[in-house]
Amino acid sequence: MNWTEIEQKDFMQVFERLPVTLVKGRGMYVRDDKGKRYLDFVGGIAVLSLGHCHPVLVKAINRQSHKLFHTSNLFYTTPQLKLARLLLKNSDMQRAFFANSGAEAVEGAVKLARRWGHINLSGAYEVISAKNSFHGRTLSMVAATGQPKFQHPYEPLPTGFINVPFDDISAIKEATTEKTCAVLLEVIQGEGGVNVPQTDYIKQVRQWCDEKNLLLILDEVQTGVGRCGTLFAYQQCGVIPDVIALAKGLAGGVPIGAVLATEKASVFAKGEHGTTFGGNALACAASCAVLEYIIKHDLPAHARNMGELMLGGLKKLQQEFQCIVDMRGKGLLLALQFNQDIAKDVALACLDMGLLVNNLKPNILRFIPPLIVQPADINKALCILQKALYKITEQHR
Ligand SMILES: *Cc1c(COP(=O)(O)O)cnc(C)c1O
Repeated sequence: MNWTEIEQKDFMQVFERLPVTLVKGRGMYVRDDKGKRYLDFVGGIAVLSLGHCHPVLVKAINRQSHKLFHTSNLFYTTPQLKLARLLLKNSDMQRAFFANSGAEAVEGAVKLARRWGHINLSGAYEVISAKNSFHGRTLSMVAATGQPKFQHPYEPLPTGFINVPFDDISAIKEATTEKTCAVLLEVIQGEGGVNVPQTDYIKQVRQWCDEKNLLLILDEVQTGVGRCGTLFAYQQCGVIPDVIALAKGLAGGVPIGAVLATEKASVFAKGEHGTTFGGNALACAASCAVLEYIIKHDLPAHARNMGELMLGGLKKLQQEFQCIVDMRGKGLLLALQFNQDIAKDVALACLDMGLLVNNLKPNILRFIPPLIVQPADINKALCILQKALYKITEQHR
């Protein structure tokens, strides 16, 4: 049996995987079990901020693993205290809670909003979120995620979530009632197709939340930690949210999540929320190392420059291939859209030529490489992409 057959026999068949088994990586490259090398423009889905096995991260994990892995939150640990300081010093937030994943972080933010509603809005509990959003896979986050394909298999869903069209302030206003306690949005919708809203959208939502005393929760699980060209994507919107959820790139591949909130919004009381693993010393030490590196080397600015380079290259490709109808995104969260469902074929052709790209939707490719990507990597990726497009569009003619 090969690995594909073993997977099909042993696993619950929920993942659509590309046919490759990866065994080790370094920087921008990974190798499969046959020793073939791939340039990685998936980055573990926007997780590998510093690429594969960055020496700084390896060292931090190594060091911490000789000291302390985990204590539970019945005690104080210094990596956790240090990470909170680092995050708060570099955001507009004042209090932190650590979790283990994106879904858990956003769910924590929603629980905070429900406490806010109980305390400040006569028991209001409804959260308005956007269609085409993605907030994770727990039952509540599936209800928050405005995509029927994630929701229908699990009905009835938890109540208290309303999904309205994205990038439409009047839809939020119309959906707001005396039961509303918060608005939950991604700054750019990642899983939904790399959808960038109008410049003023988030600002208008902020004003509406202020007017109605609602919490503005920004899900920066994908857009945060430098990915979009600033440490947090909200910093490009001219607003300060009440709550931010972080995860993916925060510890460069070690599982972690974080809820950050302003002093005003931090209404949890003792015992009202918790976690066993969340904020454990190992994950926090990893995250400190990643964040310190990102800040010290101004990787957000680097992501901005590399993103522009990549977008420029994609625009050139568009002149060559009629099947390309759009390219969009910010920093190193980018997408290429086709007028036909060829994304998987293109991704497979790229794989064959030694490039990992994510076929996000049947007609959309997503590029979310490590933040350490260099111009030579981008040129190489564009070159392989061009060859793959030649191959696939020949077939589709
Ligand atoms: C990936 C993602 C999540 C879920 O994160 P998990 O770690 O898979 O639970 C939530 N929100 C956004 C915006 C994401 O991109």
